[in-house]
Amino acid sequence: MSKVITREQQEEKYTWDLQTIFESDEAFEEKYKELEGRLGEEVQFQGKIDSSEALAAALETERAISDEIGKLFVYAHLKHDQDTSNDTYSALESKARTLVVKFNTAWSFLIPEIMKVDQETLETWRQEERLSEFSFDLEKLNKKREHVLSDKEERLLAQAGEVMSNPTSTFGMFNNADLEFPDAVDAEGNTHALTQGTYIDLLKSSDRTLRQSAYENLYSTYGAFKNTLSQTLQGVVSTHVFQAQARGYDSARHQALSNNFIPEAVYDNLVKTVNDHLHLMHRYTELRRKQLGLDKLKMYDVYTPMIKDVEFEMTYEEAKDWMLKSLEPMGDTYLNIIKEGLDSRWVDVYENKGKRSGAYSSGTYGTNPFILMNWQNNVNNLFTLTHEFGHSVHSYYSRQSQPSNKSGYSIFVAEVASNFNEALLADYMFKNLEDTKKKLYLLNEQLEGFRGSVFRQTMFAEFEHKIHSMKEAGEPLTAGSLNAVYGDLNRKYFGDAVEYDEYIDVEWARIPHFYMNYYVYQYSTGYAAAASLSKQVLEGDTDVAERYINEFLKKGSSDYPINVLKNAGVDMTTSEPIENAMKVFESQLDQFEALLEKL
Ligand SMILES: [Zn+2]
Repeated sequence: MSKVITREQQEEKYTWDLQTIFESDEAFEEKYKELEGRLGEEVQFQGKIDSSEALAAALETERAISDEIGKLFVYAHLKHDQDTSNDTYSALESKARTLVVKFNTAWSFLIPEIMKVDQETLETWRQEERLSEFSFDLEKLNKKREHVLSDKEERLLAQAGEVMSNPTSTFGMFNNADLEFPDAVDAEGNTHALTQGTYIDLLKSSDRTLRQSAYENLYSTYGAFKNTLSQTLQGVVSTHVFQAQARGYDSARHQALSNNFIPEAVYDNLVKTVNDHLHLMHRYTELRRKQLGLDKLKMYDVYTPMIKDVEFEMTYEEAKDWMLKSLEPMGDTYLNIIKEGLDSRWVDVYENKGKRSGAYSSGTYGTNPFILMNWQNNVNNLFTLTHEFGHSVHSYYSRQSQPSNKSGYSIFVAEVASNFNEALLADYMFKNLEDTKKKLYLLNEQLEGFRGSVFRQTMFAEFEHKIHSMKEAGEPLTAGSLNAVYGDLNRKYFGDAVEYDEYIDVEWARIPHFYMNYYVYQYSTGYAAAASLSKQVLEGDTDVAERYINEFLKKGSSDYPINVLKNAGVDMTTSEPIENAMKVFESQLDQFEALLEKL
């Protein structure tokens, strides 16, 4: 193992340039004081939103302060993440965080006060020129109005918030703090620590004894608490159902999807279209069974790589080259943004002592994007870098083209640009790699990515909707009924190549996303939209790429997420994008099988 260097030992050219935000810590402090002094400005607007002029002034003031605070916060959090053991910057970060909270609290009167303006008046105001940049935000507020209750009822619901969050916090404590698993044991009798963090890595092991041990130890532990965990899950589902009923929505799903104005047809369409293509998932599990040389596949065999002993090394310099070549179909402006990012130090490349783990893309209005990496010399890091640049380019275009209040993007579209980039990279690498084993390795990763993002998350989405519907129909959610629903779905998705046991039936008990109110389907729709769009770009001419840039990347949140995607070429209310994505998966299966013949 190479020794991890300190922050001071990093070569400057491989670190991000935060001086583009603030020249120095002193400049940060100055700005901080200035903004602290602006707390209190909100008072002049409180109780006085009585004209479109007053509303415009309030919204503009709030936006201006918010943009400045955004820069403070990003500077402090990036400085903190580059070395979390540096006390100066952890203090700076918590200082910035506190200011954000103070500011949000001070301005929290604004939305309720806008809602007090009657619907028609607000509708007239928002058509006026002075409110044009805020018109869409105000339209969305007006649309949500019918589900806002009286002041007294709203206060009561807000007060009940803490009680209603209890099932989720109880599950979180149990799952993260209290629950312990027996060690897993490998074929040689060595023990391996089994935790939430090590579980998937153990399942990727080529030692089948170890995989089985990890799988059985994990699920028998959850199984021992299945009654308690069915109660916490039941509790959170009840809260969703109660809130939807209290606010006059048709169902819990109706409320959850209304937040981003997503039609429920999108959800039903996803589930139906994925179900229509389960034969592809079954073909994949059968291929996996054969490739691993097993009579029957067990659920602990579904993560381990089908192609063994492939070293796919990659330096950062080589990776930049692959990434840029693979994105050529996007045209020069797109490529130049990425080149600028690489040349102007947007990326913090290598690991150092105290640096935050993982990878992300950050930044805010008025700064360039920043990417945190912990570079290791392998091809998976190339995919991570290309993924994060997808986020960065999306943010870059949106911030350049929209005012700050419309430059963000909703969670429904958040993973489209990143997965889009990865799809172009995979396609290019597949066409340009010589080595058959490396190609197979790559395809294996692609197939697994698709299984994990589309099939698995859709199965989760089906489960989530089923248990909410049961609750709404007055059916009890018990350990028995949850196991039965989950077990059936798992069998339906994985098909006949798998020999089932009762362990997997309780997998629902360990998935934190089921506490997040209709969240997971967006992983599937986002991935499918990206697969469909990248397919169009690869098969089309530069017009298709231009359309994706102009209608999607530059649009931020200036329109409903469904419309933004539709204008870019994917209508998520139809089955077409999911079908297109399935074609990509099918062709990868074909290629994988054809290449195996050559080995
Ligand atoms: Zn991402």
